[in-house]
Amino acid sequence: MLSVTEALERILSHFEVTAKEMVPLAKCAGRVLAADIIAAHDLPPFDNSSMDGFAIRSADLANAALPITLDVVADIPAGSVPTVTLAQGQSARIMTGAQLPKGADAVIPVEDTDFHSRDAGTTAPQTISFTRTVQAGENIRPRGMDLHAGDMILQKGHKLKAQDLGMLAMLGVAEVQVHKKPRVALFSSGDELLEVDSPLSEGKIHDSNSYTLAALIEDAGAEVLRLGIAKDTWESVEDLLQKAVNEDVDLIVSSAGVSVGAFDFVKDVIEVNGKLDFWRVNMRPGKPLAFGEYRSIPFVGLPGNPVSAFVGFKVFVRPALERLAGLMDGASPRVRVRCEGEIKSDGRESYLRAKIRTENGIHTVVLTGHQGSGNLLSLVQADALLIIPAGVKCVPAGQEVEAILL
Ligand code: AMP
Ligand code: MG
Repeated sequence: MLSVTEALERILSHFEVTAKEMVPLAKCAGRVLAADIIAAHDLPPFDNSSMDGFAIRSADLANAALPITLDVVADIPAGSVPTVTLAQGQSARIMTGAQLPKGADAVIPVEDTDFHSRDAGTTAPQTISFTRTVQAGENIRPRGMDLHAGDMILQKGHKLKAQDLGMLAMLGVAEVQVHKKPRVALFSSGDELLEVDSPLSEGKIHDSNSYTLAALIEDAGAEVLRLGIAKDTWESVEDLLQKAVNEDVDLIVSSAGVSVGAFDFVKDVIEVNGKLDFWRVNMRPGKPLAFGEYRSIPFVGLPGNPVSAFVGFKVFVRPALERLAGLMDGASPRVRVRCEGEIKSDGRESYLRAKIRTENGIHTVVLTGHQGSGNLLSLVQADALLIIPAGVKCVPAGQEVEAILL
């Protein structure tokens, strides 16, 4: 049986990054850059005030007796272009973000002056007195303070976050070259499955995997096409696979029907109309996991048990989607966590549901309950999946293990 590492390598070798497209900036959250972003201009683009106050020449105040009074020769709101050049003894009222007038080299905040009318709409005074001196450069944000034209700001392969979009807007990037969202067809399989809005009946359960998996697919930055539920028949499975092919997706994901049950048709249909690379991985939960191609489209058949399907997705499908999306700095972060109590395992690479506890600033993890692959509650209560390596049957209390944070 394949190890997790071997299986992942085999899967990843079938994926290449999607094509590029130009997307309006407002639609770029979570998208992956297909080209480096180089600053076209300095930021800030001009010297400006970081305070509401008065622009002055610091030399005028350097050796003066306080308070000192200066003439106010201009009023400079944000967005305006100052036309004055300050001469000795002159100042200008200036607002936060407004361009600094020529001659000025510092700003004194309005709070440090004798000008007490600070309501919106008040006109500038004729003169202004200060009770303190300032250093040259004080309360000024010089042009290029944050970054310079030509600087590399974000690299190809980076997934755009909220603050990145703000930065792109600052740089005047209205459209961004990103990779196309991977498209994933998803279906469940099993005669016992009901749609979530059908009442439960004898022997049946609601299809829950398609909800978990669709959310995971979207969270990975891909588009999901939900194809519904296949019956446990050859024809029904083939029909949904064909629908996926017609949609020209990058990947087909299904759950259940890939084990050794008498009605597990999924892997047989794949084998006959495509290629089955493998259908078992040495891990727990999630051993019956199939990978192959259906009419040249990569196919992952996740196990049916809800926790196995989730773990199989995290370990194999998410990295495949990250590769498709062109992500360079992806890979779900793994951290090391300390086990509070002893943990038993069966020697297969195991993914156990655990909760992080913090006491006196020390983090430890405890298992969340039933670790059976059908027990979804313990996954709902977990905030980490502990990875117990192959060959390990017991992790003593106090030892650290690797974990995927959920
Ligand atoms: P199978 O892989 O078809 O043998 O299914 C394994 C277990 O997973 C069975 O208990 C199924 O009822 C359950 N199962 C399969 N598909 C789903 C699904 N979509 N939602 C919830 N449970 C499922
Ligand atoms: Mg089944």
